[in-house]
Amino acid sequence: MSLSEPAFAGSLLMVVAPSGAGKSTLVNALLERLPTIRLSISHTTRPPRPKDRNGVQYHFVSPDEFRQMEADGDFLEWAEVHGNYYGTSRKWIEDQLVRDVDVLLEIDWQGARQIRQRFAGSSRVSVTGIFILPPSFEALEHRLRTRGEDSDSVISRRLLAAGSEIAHAPEFEHVIINQDFATALDELTSIVKATRTRFAAQHARNHELFAQLGIGGDLT
Ligand code: 5GP
Repeated sequence: MSLSEPAFAGSLLMVVAPSGAGKSTLVNALLERLPTIRLSISHTTRPPRPKDRNGVQYHFVSPDEFRQMEADGDFLEWAEVHGNYYGTSRKWIEDQLVRDVDVLLEIDWQGARQIRQRFAGSSRVSVTGIFILPPSFEALEHRLRTRGEDSDSVISRRLLAAGSEIAHAPEFEHVIINQDFATALDELTSIVKATRTRFAAQHARNHELFAQLGIGGDLT
């Protein structure tokens, strides 16, 4: 089955944030709250960190493997971030969407742009962009400094990178300010839940009811 067939109903939810905004903690809490949402596991050429497990945080691949996958059209989007390559598996995503499963993508702004372009004008695939902001620049700096044993120069580089990521916040429909964790999590949950009642998703899920009620809908 491909995305052009009518059975599609799931949504793509892109969660983007500068590092230090608390994105992963929020996303993990969301997945516990809404276990039907699936998180896309990206492929990356970044070397695994001590706590990383292959196939859990990422699929870790060599630059050659990544290039081959890219040449084979295996990625829905891919980008270079901080000197490493990251990509989203096309097949895995398509398999989820046709089964009415909503998929969360933890990607950067470049990937988010590609996803938007790919599905621009599609009334079947709904793409929702959510940007997570820290409550202040000082809070971001504090989180980056207390996170690990990184040197000052690494932290300065991360802060600079955070600034460039934040500059893309206006490209997103939703912005969550992660000041109070519980509030931020409620906001994220509400956004994700709301995408399930989109016309196209309900139509795809309930087309017999829609037909019985005489509701059309020109899905392209
Ligand atoms: P990290 O290596 O620290 O887990 O992630 C570094 C950055 O890469 C983060 O901004 C993260 O959102 C981004 N990233 C992770 N996976 C993907 C992906 O599949 N595509 C894109 N475009 N960015 C990704």
